[in-house]
Amino acid sequence: MKLVRFGPRGEERPGVLMEKDSKILDVRAMAFDIEDFNGHFFTHWGIQRIQALLKEPSLKTVPADGVRLGPPVARPGKIVCLGKNYADHAAEFDAEIPSSPILFSKAPTSLVGPFDPIVLPRGANIVDGEVELAVVIGKTACRVSESDALQFIAGYTVLNDVTDREAQKEGKQWFRAKSADTFCPLGPYLVTPDEIRDPQNLRLCSKVNGSTLQDNNTANMIFKIAHLISFISATMTLEPGDLMSTGTPGGIGSAHKPAVVFRPGDIVETAIEGVGAQRARVERT
Ligand code: ZN
Repeated sequence: MKLVRFGPRGEERPGVLMEKDSKILDVRAMAFDIEDFNGHFFTHWGIQRIQALLKEPSLKTVPADGVRLGPPVARPGKIVCLGKNYADHAAEFDAEIPSSPILFSKAPTSLVGPFDPIVLPRGANIVDGEVELAVVIGKTACRVSESDALQFIAGYTVLNDVTDREAQKEGKQWFRAKSADTFCPLGPYLVTPDEIRDPQNLRLCSKVNGSTLQDNNTANMIFKIAHLISFISATMTLEPGDLMSTGTPGGIGSAHKPAVVFRPGDIVETAIEGVGAQRARVERT
């Protein structure tokens, strides 16, 4: 299944993309108590309830064309991100391969929909993006083993880890550089795990104005998804609806020669095989 959230910003409704018919199932119109794709939804058999809804004889739908999509999950409690989780990106960043996962965070307020504009903050002149496979946690994960870890995933989606490189270099901490409003395009869908045969073998790429910058495969992660969930949950509880992003491969725009950084009017595209594609226009405040 491909879960989407559709409607104006801040008023998104939960839906299911019905690709063949170019329609979206209006989940809340069919089940009033399903308010959103949030922690409550994932812990209260939400996925199973939606599977049952889809079998009902009359479905309430809206046309998919022209509808704005928001991030495919409600605002998470936390967004845990990975620094330097692909060797070629570590090489272009500072040449040090990490011996254990490097965690950082993005503010949940940085989330936007997959086709919403990326807005450059005033004074930010070296901003680029990072295509990443993100997972949404489906049940409380506290000290889980690597062998059990994948059972805690509600689904997969595309995350663009937009970054202000000047702020990243200035600060000892990356939080500000990673957390400007609109610096976390997410979606277009949350793809349930049954549709992803092997999350560690997915092609992922990014483009600016049609030119490819990143083109790699999730097989090349240094620390794999199961290890990451086990590692993170050994310290902090991952809650249903939380987001974990798995890091970006080499080829980020600012590492190109000459550097490719976002300018107003640029078209930024990110895509992951079987997970979805985003397209955003860059604007300035
Ligand atoms: Zn990143």
